[in-house]
Amino acid sequence: MKNVVLMGATGSIGENTLSVLRKHPDKLRLIGIAAHEQSHKLAAIAKEFKVQNICIYDNATYIKAKESSLFNENQKLSSGETGLTELATLEDADIVLFGLSGTLGLKPALAALSKGTNIALANKEILVLGGQFLTAMAQKTGAKILPIDSEHSGVFQCLQGKENTESIQKIILTASGGYFRDWPIERLREATPEHAIKHPNWSMGPKITVDCATMANKGLELIEAHWLFNLSHEKLDAIIHQQSLIHAFVQFTDGSLLAQLAPPSMTFPIQYALLYPERHPSCLLTIPLERALCLELAPIDPARYPAFFLAKDAIKQGGSLPEAFNAANEVAVQAFLKHQIPFLAISEVIEETLQETHFTQKANTLDEALHIDQLARQFADNALKKYTTPSLKP
Ligand code: MG
Repeated sequence: MKNVVLMGATGSIGENTLSVLRKHPDKLRLIGIAAHEQSHKLAAIAKEFKVQNICIYDNATYIKAKESSLFNENQKLSSGETGLTELATLEDADIVLFGLSGTLGLKPALAALSKGTNIALANKEILVLGGQFLTAMAQKTGAKILPIDSEHSGVFQCLQGKENTESIQKIILTASGGYFRDWPIERLREATPEHAIKHPNWSMGPKITVDCATMANKGLELIEAHWLFNLSHEKLDAIIHQQSLIHAFVQFTDGSLLAQLAPPSMTFPIQYALLYPERHPSCLLTIPLERALCLELAPIDPARYPAFFLAKDAIKQGGSLPEAFNAANEVAVQAFLKHQIPFLAISEVIEETLQETHFTQKANTLDEALHIDQLARQFADNALKKYTTPSLKP
């Protein structure tokens, strides 16, 4: 029996994780849950899974919940980063799964690893911002960082958990191409948030769905892979695969190419991480290969997906450019979702931010990395200003 702590229990990763937990009550036990502010949903999950340790990140919601009768007196309620860290370092925890949005979970993830507890990462921002610190800590304590991003789970499965990077020629992540993949490029000027949040294959939150449309997501995933698998920029690549059935390829130096395939549902990588290294029946059926199946692959067009190539270049140039890429993208996407900037401005804001000279040095500490993140957000905010036109609002 493995004891699981679930950070981000009420989001889409959380829901998929709960499906896996329901499927394997004899192997997985939920002992802690956290969410940003959906206290009613948290209370329902706590009741269903008999969870004792609950963190409501938002302090005002936490205070309200404490005063209400939502939770019983046997349940331990906490809030903020302290609450997340308490959950991450629970004595009985075997694995802490991070499905929180943004970089909220970074310090708690580091705390879990420092105790030698394995972590499973669904939110890539944690690795993008804290990759060097997390991997160093994991190495020190022997704890594992298990990827939940489907592509990285694919690579991890092809490598069977072995981290010998010398025999790897290249890893190739697949990308669906997002909502606009078949639009004429000229039409991208008219792309709205309402379009961009529709993903052709996956059902996810709005920010990551926009990232799929710009392919900034694939760029962030290369950064993530760089840290997870200790690979330099020339060993990292991606390819368009519209059906999202193949998640990743690993090409070895002997010319062999392994691929990992599964239907596009997060329950597959979540279950693999939680039950690793074992395999057990899943919640969903796999790809029916007895039916004819044609798998399509295509190269990524730089004119359609400039954000992807900006990320690739950021990894190549190094310093703290990958962190700056992530921060600028987040600022630009939020502005796009609020109808403040056009779709095509997202990559322009990122590019302008990356041109700042402040990002040539690597961060030496986590606080330095967080400072770089803030700095890049300020530059991106400034770059936004020239696009901000109220007339864009519908
Ligand atoms: Mg992914």
